[in-house]
Amino acid sequence: MIRILLLLSTITFAQSAAFDDTFTGRTLRLDYYHSGTFDEEHVSLDQVRLEGPWPGSRVQLVDRTNRGKYLFEVFDAASGELLYSRGFASIYGEYETTSPAHDGVWGTFHESQRFPEPKAPVRLVLNKRQADGTFAPFYETGVDPTSRFVNRSEVAPAGKVWTVFEGGPPETSVDILFLGDGYTKRERLKFKRDVERLAAALFSFEPFKSRKGDFNVRAIHLPTAESGISNPRQGVWRDNPLGLSYNALDSDRYILTYANRTVREVAAQVPYDALIIINNDRKYGGGGIFNLYATAAAHSSQAPYLVVHEFGHSFAGLADEYYTSSTAYEDFNPPGVEPWESNITALLDPANLKWGHLVETETPLPTPWNQAAYDSASYAYQARRTALREQGATEEALEALFGEVKAITKPMLEGEAHFGKVGAFEGAGYEAKGLFRPQVDCLMFTRNPDHFCRVCSEAIEQVIDMYTE
Ligand SMILES: [Zn+2]
Repeated sequence: MIRILLLLSTITFAQSAAFDDTFTGRTLRLDYYHSGTFDEEHVSLDQVRLEGPWPGSRVQLVDRTNRGKYLFEVFDAASGELLYSRGFASIYGEYETTSPAHDGVWGTFHESQRFPEPKAPVRLVLNKRQADGTFAPFYETGVDPTSRFVNRSEVAPAGKVWTVFEGGPPETSVDILFLGDGYTKRERLKFKRDVERLAAALFSFEPFKSRKGDFNVRAIHLPTAESGISNPRQGVWRDNPLGLSYNALDSDRYILTYANRTVREVAAQVPYDALIIINNDRKYGGGGIFNLYATAAAHSSQAPYLVVHEFGHSFAGLADEYYTSSTAYEDFNPPGVEPWESNITALLDPANLKWGHLVETETPLPTPWNQAAYDSASYAYQARRTALREQGATEEALEALFGEVKAITKPMLEGEAHFGKVGAFEGAGYEAKGLFRPQVDCLMFTRNPDHFCRVCSEAIEQVIDMYTE
């Protein structure tokens, strides 16, 4: 045992030494515009920018989880050695699946990739996942970190920064940063209470609960002139620096910001691995994009669910397991293609199901469930929800409807013969047919349960380990 521990610490020391040989210990950020339509895709460089100390792992530099629609890679220019990689998804990657993109309307979105600052010149490559699951490069650029083409200006102080709690050093912890949008100067205490409440909510769900000691949580309050964020379908407009808005990609409940450069500049004041941006509104809504950020309306009655569900997307690249509600996407998961997300499958090869190690031998694949009954209840609810929204109903009316649907669907799902078992249940990833989810219910499927399914939990733990081991 002692010998093994000694050996492990020697390896860790050797890898840390390797990190120091190759990297300066600070962070570089590649800023670029990701533009195009359904048919074409282009990248143009904005800037390469120096940030503060590298907050990520110094030993787990190459991403071996094979997640994300895209993959960012950093190669040593001289030797061609892969120094760093991370899978990710992007707003552009969603935009290209919408109907305007199909009609040839160009979209352009600012994106960033952060990586440890190398000592020697590197080659940066953006790859896109192909239908067969492999990655193909579509953009590359060279960076000499010592050149005049790297912006080495100090990050400007903005807003009020504080630590919610700290579990350990940034390089061996997951560093979550909460930002708030739509909180005025007078609402700083309200933001602080919202962060504390929603961080507590996140860490009341497993596996975050058991792993809380592996996390640091910090927050920045950047005051806005007015309360709340833009809500275009109600004619509400705000000129907030962080730019959060409802109706992202023309989906009413979808909250995103397109002001990525500002978000990154504000966030760069502290070490962070994961961003959660909350807005000072009651109207239901949120969003989460893998390795970008999670958003949630802090004063929705569903805010705890929104934070944990959206963080499942942004932190672990989990897919939505639901399929009965409307989305902005037309062909998010093309037929016959195995999705990259850990928690949905096209079940093209049941013998090699990606979560097969969690399936008991007696559980049939696909796993039968009473989908017709669930669908009729769920589609009826969705129709009532849409009608209420169109009538301009209050949040109270919509929240009452949330309660009603839970009262019907929770016992329905819990009464399923294979409830609690891992299998392959048809209906997932915005598709009623042809895509399958691991368990009858999960936080990525409904607002009913107080936990993720076992496949989602495992996927989240794998990402936590990437920052802590
Ligand atoms: Zn799940």
